[in-house]
Amino acid sequence: MLNFTFHNPTQIFFGEDQIAAIAKQIPADAKILVTYGGGSIKSNGVYEQVSTALKDHNWIEFSGIEPNPQFDTLMKAVDVVKAEGITYLLAVGGGSVVDGTKFIAAAARFEGDEPWDILAKQAQVKDAVPLSCVLTLPATGSESNIGAVVTRDTTKLAFMSPFVRPVFAVLDPKVTLSLSERQVANGVVDAFVHTMEQYLTFPVNAKVQDRFSEGLLMNLIEEGPKVLANPDDLEVRSNIMWSATMALNGLIGSGVPQDWSTHMIGHELTGQYGIDHARTLAIILPAVMKVQREQKRGKLVQYAQRVWNIVDGTEDEVIDQAIEKTEAFFKAMGMPVRLTDADLDAESIENILAQLELHGMTSLGEHGDMTPEVNRKVLEAAL
Ligand code: NAP
Ligand code: FE
Repeated sequence: MLNFTFHNPTQIFFGEDQIAAIAKQIPADAKILVTYGGGSIKSNGVYEQVSTALKDHNWIEFSGIEPNPQFDTLMKAVDVVKAEGITYLLAVGGGSVVDGTKFIAAAARFEGDEPWDILAKQAQVKDAVPLSCVLTLPATGSESNIGAVVTRDTTKLAFMSPFVRPVFAVLDPKVTLSLSERQVANGVVDAFVHTMEQYLTFPVNAKVQDRFSEGLLMNLIEEGPKVLANPDDLEVRSNIMWSATMALNGLIGSGVPQDWSTHMIGHELTGQYGIDHARTLAIILPAVMKVQREQKRGKLVQYAQRVWNIVDGTEDEVIDQAIEKTEAFFKAMGMPVRLTDADLDAESIENILAQLELHGMTSLGEHGDMTPEVNRKVLEAAL
């Protein structure tokens, strides 16, 4: 196991009707900006619950944070934060609203000239407006982690800072009932791939992390199809919601190598072609498993045996079956698993490789050995 420091102070309020808990958690004298997206919270009752909980607080709102939040939109919110003397941000929505609000929090206190540098130059974030969230879409883990992904035109980049980790997060599985089937499936697959990118790496004998990861993967494989078949089952929703948080709250990634290549290549597919985040991951992960087979051999076999119970056959046969099972799971969740399933052809490969180069994504993978040549092989395997 590698050395690590683990510290996740986000307080979680989990369960039905927990939105009311926010009243006591936000300082009474705070000047709050409630941020949200395109309005789903107005039609599913979440906005009303938040308004009721904040009835004795001083708050205003900023709406219109789009999926894959856009820098220009977020900078408008930064202006509001500065003009109104906002001291607390409350994000109400999915990963895009939470990520966008993290950027607003950091940009509002950024001392450099150009807040885009936080993403483009990885300029250090030294302070941020405190923020919390009411999560409405289980997927990203953003509700209790330090990462955020922001898009400017077609460039999608991430930054990390402990200053933007939410102080608290409300996770009420009931509010996820209004999600479309597509968004529910996207969430399951995003959480699955987050787990894989911290698990399916060069083995370092991290037995606790491995068993946690295998548990999360098995749970998502079991509950994913169930939530599509029985969308009203709150027990299933609860188990998916908590899995998604645990998949990317720092726990399973502590002390292990990590391989975020699928996300980095996926971000380019979303930036260039507008494909949903999770759907890009379902296209790229199986190809990474195939191309990085030797580097990941030990873990691929372990994944096959423990997660899919595939025991018969040679190492290579076992690995092949595990990759097939992974693709079948993604397909059962309604995902594309090839570029061509998403109407992209070989021409897109050159474009994506150029974007990866432009964004400095030329040494991906847990060993940094995914050079442009390897990335080309991955994209070709994904065709
Ligand atoms: P999202 O982009 O936040 O939301 C997708 C759609 O779902 C929106 O149209 C939203 O509508 C709707 N929605 C959300 N909650 C709903 C509900 N309860 N009922 C009905 N509709 C609802 O989706 P996401 O998958 O959570 O976030 C994706 C973003 O997170 C991407 O930009 C991705 O790159 C990023 N990401 C971040 C991390 C991280 O660690 N920070 C990790 C992985 C991915 P409204 O706009 O109307 O609310
Ligand atoms: Fe993700």
